[in-house]
Amino acid sequence: MKKNLVFLGAPGAGKGTIAALLIKDSPLVHISTGDIFRSEIKNKTELGTKAKSFIDSGALVPDELVVDMVVSRLQCEDCNSGYILDGFPRTVPQAELLDKALMKMNKPLDAVIFFNAKDEVLLERLTARITCKECGVNFNKLFSPPKKDGVCDMCNGVLYQRSDDSLETAKNRLVVYKEQTEPVIGYYKGPMLKEIDAEPATDINYNALKKAIEL
Ligand code: AMP
Repeated sequence: MKKNLVFLGAPGAGKGTIAALLIKDSPLVHISTGDIFRSEIKNKTELGTKAKSFIDSGALVPDELVVDMVVSRLQCEDCNSGYILDGFPRTVPQAELLDKALMKMNKPLDAVIFFNAKDEVLLERLTARITCKECGVNFNKLFSPPKKDGVCDMCNGVLYQRSDDSLETAKNRLVVYKEQTEPVIGYYKGPMLKEIDAEPATDINYNALKKAIEL
């Protein structure tokens, strides 16, 4: 099985949802930079305070704040059994700095999975997405609603709409994705890059992923 993974794709492509399934079936560690930032904001840390205004507007947090955070997380012992980088790298400079750090740590990437979906599908998913305040799991009001309205199936936490999932901010995030993150696909072009059609339902996407990483 390919074990050191990057999940690449626009917001709403389903990276986090698929990562949550994969960690149940494997020893991989899920590293979501968005989740880390949301937790830092909730805990009112210095990093959270610096990141908040960028996240609220749908912009990217500056590379220097993100890269150090990810590199120190990758140095933790649990990452030796493999990792999923979800939402990182999001710019070519982030990808270059990641390469350098992974070479030093001797934890090279095995595969980069590009989850591809059209803007209409992404916007529909983002604006109907509801997220658990406690465990961060995503539901969708249209496609995968929770069993009980407003309550997380996993931990009974309260579900809310992320402020950056509002229509206006979601549209801006897609613009930012095209300008700053799409070039990262070109950066990884080669045998390591695997493209998955992210438009079908989650179970179909998950099967495609398992095939791509030989799980
Ligand atoms: P996500 O949960 O992955 O959609 O991330 C939410 C927000 O966190 C993004 O819109 C960015 O503002 C910020 N963020 C997450 N990952 C990165 C990254 N690799 N580089 C810059 N900003 C990021």
